[in-house]
Formats: sequence, structure tokens, C-alpha cells
Amino acid sequence: MTDKPVPTINDLAAPFWQGTAARELRVLRCRRCDHHFLYAHEWCPRCWAPEPQWVATAGLGTVVAATVVHQAPYAAFAPDVPYVVAIVRLDEGPRMMANIVTRAPGRVHIGLRVEVDFEMRGEVALAQFRPANAVAME
Ligand SMILES: [Zn+2]
Repeated sequence: MTDKPVPTINDLAAPFWQGTAARELRVLRCRRCDHHFLYAHEWCPRCWAPEPQWVATAGLGTVVAATVVHQAPYAAFAPDVPYVVAIVRLDEGPRMMANIVTRAPGRVHIGLRVEVDFEMRGEVALAQFRPANAVAME
């Protein structure tokens, strides 16, 4: 169990969460135009083609926005502060919000290369990120 919030998993997004459970970060790919996207839709948001397919990513991306949280929004997050909330652009294109897990939150910056990491929160594996060159960050 965890006191931190966990996502509600619906049928549409279930393959994403099956991926994280298997330590694989998945996004949707349009069968018609090859657009890769998140979050889960029943059609491509670029060309409206139906039935996109889930594909594995390399789990690599770049920070495009980040902030350091110093005041925990919930008591369960208090042990984690300061921590980083960021928007990461995956190499495949989609952007997603996640934490950048690091002991040096003040050194996270736009353009930082990151790689996916997984945080077990209760029964759910969340996709988080850590600096791709963690040694340089410590
Ligand atoms: Zn498309």
C-alpha cells in the first residue's frame, strides 16, 4: 500500500500500465501516419485514423520543462522534498509529465537527457525518469 495517489486504470490505457509493469514504456503509434502520441486515444490526434497500436519506446527523452517542489502537496510526499516535476519529450515524440529522480534536483535543467525508471506505487508501476548520465549529476 501507499498513501500517495495512484492512477485509475481504464481499458483504453491498460496496455500502457501493462507495459510499465513489465518495465517497458509504451506510447501509441498511428498505423496510417506513424505519429507517436500519448495519452491514450482511440484514434490518432493528427490524422484521425482509428485503432492506433501500442509500441515500446527506448525509454529515453529530454527535459523540456521542470520545477523543483519544496512543499509537499500531500503528507505522503513530505519525505521526498525537494523533488523535480518535469515534462519530458520522449525521443519518439510524445511528451509526458513525470518526476526526475535525482539527489541533485537543482541541477535538472531544460535539455537534460533522461532515461525512464519505474517506481512501484502500491500495485502500479509509474514511469519516472532519472538523468541519463547519473554519475555526472551526483
Ligand atoms: Zn495518424
